[in-house]
Amino acid sequence: MIGSRLSAPPLTLTIIVIECVVVFSYFLFYHPSLSFESTGFVMASNNVCSNCNKREEDAETKLLNCSVCRTTKYCSAQCQKDSWPSHKASCTKLGCLQLIAAIQANDASTVTRLSKTKRVLNGKVDYTPPPEEHMPDPYEMGKWTALHECVRKENKEMMKILVSSGAKLEIEDADGETPAFVASTSQRPELIKILLDGGANPNAMAQDGWSCLMMSARGGDYGTTKALLEAGADLHHGGDMFGRTAFDISSQQASGDMGTRMSQGESLEEAKAKHRRVAALLSEYAAKN
Ligand SMILES: [Zn+2]
Ligand SMILES: [Zn+2]
Repeated sequence: MIGSRLSAPPLTLTIIVIECVVVFSYFLFYHPSLSFESTGFVMASNNVCSNCNKREEDAETKLLNCSVCRTTKYCSAQCQKDSWPSHKASCTKLGCLQLIAAIQANDASTVTRLSKTKRVLNGKVDYTPPPEEHMPDPYEMGKWTALHECVRKENKEMMKILVSSGAKLEIEDADGETPAFVASTSQRPELIKILLDGGANPNAMAQDGWSCLMMSARGGDYGTTKALLEAGADLHHGGDMFGRTAFDISSQQASGDMGTRMSQGESLEEAKAKHRRVAALLSEYAAKN
């Protein structure tokens, strides 16, 4: 209680000292904007060459961070080289997670820096995203890549950086899905356009036989369906367990014979009209080819 603290000076002094230690420890160890370097406080365990265990004060030069993960220190280029076989896997995993975090934070300079390292740009990592309001219990993304994350977060700007840095467009996650395939379910045509303009395969298929076009047709997504067709998507490519193609799926959605997928806030009639428009577009392309 405040009253008792004020009435007992020795105890107050003790508490103030404890609080100072707690606050100081917080800034020293946990405050995100302060690193050991910037505060001038250096812990011995964090300032040892990862290869030869030489301490900074015993080394001839200041220890240098690995330029990719920036967490591992070396006293010399030789030590970095010698430790590379054992550091490579953890460095790549850490780099991939840092790149994914930078995409989430819309941090263009970090995304640009990490994209220069191909093993990170095209690296795969098992990754569970942080909980969000619409997904409080996220599931693990197996063999996830930075480009997949751009699609998931619908981040066009970061996607453009990755694509211009040479990200592999046909890279697959654990379910065999390419970024373009994931984008075909997003209802955001501008995402798949960036990938298709970069040369992504419009006929990419998931392991279960569903094609990009089947996914966009199922969602009644006119813009994505049109972008796929313009990029050369094959109407007859792929098929589900009933042998249905994109056109079959779209027609059934439009008629409501097997139920109609509706978006949030959409009436059944609005949904059917949306699917009819996609079915007409597919018919138009079928007549042309
Ligand atoms: Zn060393
Ligand atoms: Zn590293």
